[in-house]
Formats: sequence, structure tokens, C-alpha cells
Amino acid sequence: MTDLVLDPHALAKHLQQRHLIGGQLVAPSSGQSFEVASPATGALIALAAAGDAADVDAAVTSAATAQVAWAKVSARQRGKLIGACGALLDAHKEELARLVALETGKAIRTESRIEAGVLADIFHFYAGLGSELKGETIPFHPDMLTMTIREPIGVVGAIIPWNAPLLLMALKIAPALVAGNTVVVKSAEEAPFAVLRICELMATILPPGVFNLVSGMGPECGAPLVAHPKVGKVTFTGSVETGKIVARAAAEKLIPVTLELGGKSPMIVMDDCDLDRTVAGAVAGMRFTRMGQSCTAASRMYVQAGIHDRFVAALRAKVDAMLMGDPLDEKTDIGTIISRAQFEKVNAYIAIGKADGGTANECSALPTGDAFKPGYYVRPVIFTDLPGSSRVIREEIFGPVTAVIKFDDFEQALAAANDSEYGLAATLWTRDLKTALDGARRLQAGFVQVNQNLVVQPGLSYGGIKSSGLGKEASLEAMLDHFTTKKTVILNMT
Ligand code: ADP
Repeated sequence: MTDLVLDPHALAKHLQQRHLIGGQLVAPSSGQSFEVASPATGALIALAAAGDAADVDAAVTSAATAQVAWAKVSARQRGKLIGACGALLDAHKEELARLVALETGKAIRTESRIEAGVLADIFHFYAGLGSELKGETIPFHPDMLTMTIREPIGVVGAIIPWNAPLLLMALKIAPALVAGNTVVVKSAEEAPFAVLRICELMATILPPGVFNLVSGMGPECGAPLVAHPKVGKVTFTGSVETGKIVARAAAEKLIPVTLELGGKSPMIVMDDCDLDRTVAGAVAGMRFTRMGQSCTAASRMYVQAGIHDRFVAALRAKVDAMLMGDPLDEKTDIGTIISRAQFEKVNAYIAIGKADGGTANECSALPTGDAFKPGYYVRPVIFTDLPGSSRVIREEIFGPVTAVIKFDDFEQALAAANDSEYGLAATLWTRDLKTALDGARRLQAGFVQVNQNLVVQPGLSYGGIKSSGLGKEASLEAMLDHFTTKKTVILNMT
């Protein structure tokens, strides 16, 4: 169905209890389903298909069959088809935005609509890169033509989380498909519908089986996908713990794996920064509008003593002015936390911070009215005065909780910023060129920005070091390095 469906409840019902396998919306073989509820109201949205190993096998078999012909489509033609998918998804971005706002609780104006827009952008970026799947010739011997050829890996298994499902799925499927692979996605149990809608739309353009999606629980549906003998590559975004499980299962089969995992991203603010710009960057970087549910959230803010108090006051004022409420209301700045489990985890960390002696500056007001009572709303917290050893500073919370930590000199801040098991993203705010260059070189993170805090950008490699992951996404290199294999060929002409 390609009609625009702007009522997200109706669209979720249409996608109820379905996977997308072989170009068709199909029921799970077991007939089992699970409930997906609105994090804003607790009301049932619709039932999602509870996939198991049999469904995964059907999807992978369909993908493996389709891959033979897909690899023979010229690379530029594959790119054209991905571009056509991008245009279709762009035409449907409003319905995707509404559906993702409903299922994830991310505010429509500040989050969901923006994510739906970036989705098409990523498709269009990769659509133009088919011709870049090239190899080299090597001057090995004058009588031998020696070259490398890039080939698709085969069937790619992609496992995605709930916090930015459209964007994170696009970063995986667009390069995998342009490179000539076919794909089976396992969606996150909290947010299965908007990504399934993407598949339904793409199935009107791509040959059947090229792109499949199954929904279900991690151990019952994700694990069989990683373990399936015909899956030749796994790309995963999620928690460090699950990432390690996935990596171990991939190691059993000796297949390559890309992992985008957690973060505890530092932001270093020097006395000489442009304060207004820096505070705006802190609000955006901490993803308060998304309840801080981002692996790059600026959840450790190291602020130099001379500007510390002004920074905290300005940050509090800005977050205080944000309106928390119904994710589908245009006026809302901040939506909800995703689930009860996450809601409880965030509240537990706030209690830990208080017990550690931190001052919990709570900002923004909870929405009032009975309708919001069952919703997972938490007031954003800006902690000050926390000891560096606090778990609030060291562990990923994935909620609207940040800590501002005062420092005197740059070396001290740099050492504290790097003293983390994570290494996903970092930002530095200064007008001094030497400090900027020094920080850019020495901050231990895969994505470092000075005086800005952008999210993933098509064309710029994105990915962490240390426990934050393995491999890159979003760039040409990501497609070449992670979704192709290189074959060396020698033609002996003597
Ligand atoms: P989060 O805390 O973001 O939910 P997870 O890492 O648990 O992070 O989930 C990310 C994705 O990994 C989800 O789609 C989830 O279903 C899936 N998943 C969870 N456990 C497993 C597993 N054992 N094998 C494969 N995928 C899994």
C-alpha cells in the first residue's frame, strides 16, 4: 500500500502481526505476537509479529535466493533503485514521522520529523555511490594483469535499536543494498512499525527478497539471525552487553561484524568559548528533546571554572523553558522515555547521583493532566557537584541526565574526558585555535567536533573506539570496508 496514511494508529493496525518477507507482508509462522504500547499514554498501539527461528529462516532464504540476481544488477542501477526508494520515503516522511513519534514517544516537531527527513537523505547519498565500488590494478608483473575486485558479501543481517530506528536502519541498509547484498533486518521490540512501513514502501520498488524485515525479541529472533548459516555479515546497533553477545556469535561463524554501541560522550567547555553558542550546543548535544536517549548524548560536561556558574545557569534556563508533553503535539519540545524499564533505570541513576552528594537541578515541568499520568515522563536533571567516581558520570544512562563538572586547566579536563571505557563522540568549545587542534588530536573518540554538535552526517564516517564499537557507518568507506569483500585476481598472459 503506497497511499499516504497520516493517522499513525491506523497505519500501525495495518502493519499489525506482520513481517516483510519476499516482498510481502506475512504473518509470523507461530501465530504469536506481542503488544506495543504508547510510552506517552500506556495505551496499546497494535500487536507486532513475534518472530522466531522459522521466520528468520524464511527471511534469510528469501534474501539468499534474491541475492544472486541482485548482484548481477549493475551497481549504478542498484543505486538508482535505492534513489527511487529515497524519493518514495521522502514523499512519506510525514506519516513515518508520526508513526515513529507514536511508538517511541519522540516529539514530532523536534525529533521525529527531523529523523524522517534524514532517512531519505541517507538513501540519496548512497544512491550515487554505485560507481565507487571499484578495485585497483596492481603493477605486479609486466605479463600479468593483476587487480582487485569488490564483491558483495551476500546476505547481511542488521539488528537495530529503538532510539532512532529510521536513521539507524537507513545507515545499514542503503550501503548494504547498493553494494549488492540483500538484507534481513531485525527491528527493535519497542519500535517495530515505522521501519516495517519503510519495508512495505521499498517492496514496491525493489525485487522481492532483496530487503526483508522480521520483528521479535532479541534472543528468539535476533540471535537466530546472527547464527543463521547463510548470513555472511552482521551489522548491529545497541547496547554494549548485547553487542558482545552478537560479536561472540559472529565469531563462532567467523563472519565480519560492525558494532555501534554505547557512549558517555564528553563536552569540554573552555572559559574563552562563545557562551550562547555553547549552551545551545549543550542542549542539542545532550539531546534533551529526545529525553537524552542517544548514544552520543553529551552526558559529561567538563566546564572551566571561570565560566562554570554562568554556563550552568544558562543551561538550566534553556532546558527549563522546554515544554514536555504529548509527542504528537506540535507544541511539544520533549517527548517521553521509551519504556517502563528505561524509566526505572533513569530514575535509579538520579537517585544514585543524589546519594553521591550531587545537586540535582531538575528542569522543565512534567505535563499535567490525567492523560499523561501513565506516560514515561522524567524531568531533565543537570547534576552539579558530583564526584568524578559517581556512576552518573561513568556509566551510560540513556536518559535526560547530564553532569556538569568544574575544572581548572585543559589537561585536567582532557584526562577526565578520556578516562572512560567509551569512545564514541566528544566536543570541545573554545575560540583558541591551539586548544582546538590539541583537543581534536587527543580526545579519544571516533567523532570529535569543535564548536558544534551535529548528529550523524551522510558522507562523514561515524563510529566509536574502545567499548563504543567496531567499524564505521554513514560514509563511502563504510560501504566499501563493511559491505564488500575484495578479491585479488591475476591474469597470466604469457
Ligand atoms: P537497548 O538497550 O537499546 O534495547 P539492546 O542491545 O538490548 O539495546 O537491543 C538492541 C537490539 O538488539 C534490539 O533489536 C534487540 O532485540 C536486539 N537483541 C537483544 N538481544 C539480542 C541477542 N541475544 N541477539 C541478537 N539481537 C539481540
